[in-house]
Amino acid sequence: MDFARDHKMLIGGKLEGGSALFDVLNPATEQVIASVPDATRDDLDHAIAAARAAFPGWAATPIAERKAALTAMGQAIMANADAFKRLLTAEQGKPHAEAEGEVMGAGYWLMGAASLDLPVTVNEDSDERYSETRHVPLGVVGAIAPWNFPLLLAMFKVGPALLAGNTMVLKPSPFTPLTTLKFGELVKDILPPGVLNIVTGGDALGPWMTSHPGFDKISFTGSTATGRRVMESAAPTLKRVTLELGGNDAAIVMPDVDVEKVAEELFWAAFRNNGQICIATKRMYVHKDIYEPLKDALVAYAKTVKVGDGSEQGTQIGPINNEAQYRRVLDLIADAKDKGYTFLVGGDAADVPGYYIPVTILDNPPEDSRIVQEEQFGPVLPLIKFDDYDDVIARANTTDYGLGGSVWGQDEDKAFEIAQRIASGTVWVNETQHLSPTAAFGGMKQSGVGVEGGLEGLLEYTNAQTIVRRRKVAAA
Ligand code: NAD
Repeated sequence: MDFARDHKMLIGGKLEGGSALFDVLNPATEQVIASVPDATRDDLDHAIAAARAAFPGWAATPIAERKAALTAMGQAIMANADAFKRLLTAEQGKPHAEAEGEVMGAGYWLMGAASLDLPVTVNEDSDERYSETRHVPLGVVGAIAPWNFPLLLAMFKVGPALLAGNTMVLKPSPFTPLTTLKFGELVKDILPPGVLNIVTGGDALGPWMTSHPGFDKISFTGSTATGRRVMESAAPTLKRVTLELGGNDAAIVMPDVDVEKVAEELFWAAFRNNGQICIATKRMYVHKDIYEPLKDALVAYAKTVKVGDGSEQGTQIGPINNEAQYRRVLDLIADAKDKGYTFLVGGDAADVPGYYIPVTILDNPPEDSRIVQEEQFGPVLPLIKFDDYDDVIARANTTDYGLGGSVWGQDEDKAFEIAQRIASGTVWVNETQHLSPTAAFGGMKQSGVGVEGGLEGLLEYTNAQTIVRRRKVAAA
């Protein structure tokens, strides 16, 4: 399929080519599949000016109309699901079935966000005064998205920000700009000009955005290291920030699980999207009584999984998205080899085109090893034996991350009790990675600042404004 057509940014309601272009690769082949605009500072200034100009009109638009626009955008994504899916697999690497899941999820997310409402709190309604707190939009939001779920995670921001009455400039990752630009082509005919602008560029564009005085808020999803830079850069103009950052989620598997039944689900908790999920299981703590049978079941299942080009039928795991991440995962594997840890499966990447790494599982590496302590964001899972719940909970909580986590066991009350002791923004019992546009999602500790989703996420795109009105009767 040919993806090399004219990809354009959306600025002030117009599709704009850039004065310069940069290349986008297919990670399955390392071939250039398209070139997209490399925004200049002028392009960014124009996009922010367009968003600023559109803000008063959009903020004054009745919320019912804003909801209708979100719904229409969601429907437009779903109506074009097939084209989005192919584009997403080509730029991101994930298999077609998963790409379709992301695309439909992105449409669903906009519609789900449209079901939320901005509350008004009546603080006092007495003879002397009436006081209420309402939520007004912030202004212009700069949204910066990562490459692992480029379309879906952009919609995590677009939905609530626009619903609350803000306008936006959205920047996808330079590795995965194509689906976001295609979304811009659809939005052009749905939203008033300037309400949503989409700019693409290389490494300079993100820092230009976070330091630009024209933004009232930066909503960022990406690594913890970049998140720190975003916060620093937003400080001089006191921009609001929402930071959705990295994770090192622990799964705790209790001894009463049905090993055969749970193994496949646990496998995909770690390896879905090739492990490139912020809330993937990145450390799996398994009770000693079932460690051996679960280990065997996971390894047996891993050997059945097909890794390959996501556009080929039957592929279950695609390549790593980009060369830098590929090298990073290989470096963690090399470190595990150097230290003499035991590989149960995988470990050796074949020397073929494409950023392929085999499914790799490690047998009980030490707690202080890099593969346990760092976020691998790739298909390498350490299995770690535990004996005592207090001990495993302490180990799960020792990292600076606190994004997600899961507990697995037939004794649901015990599992729930353990879940409540894990210091993470979301903890699942007997499932994982279930998110909803109507539930708050965010990180504790250095996994983030603020949340997305739910009423709490919506309110992060607003200022609380309290209006106090003295009653005439009291003034008389
Ligand atoms: P990244 O931090 O490298 O890049 C994220 C985005 O920030 C990209 O658009 C990039 O171009 C931009 N960027 C890079 N440097 C910047 C700077 N100095 N200022 C402003 N913008 C800059 O992250 P990534 O590699 O694209 O994504 C993987 C990471 O994202 C992982 O750590 C993962 O856990 C995390 N993540 C978190 C969530 C979440 O919701 N918490 C979701 C998905 C991914």
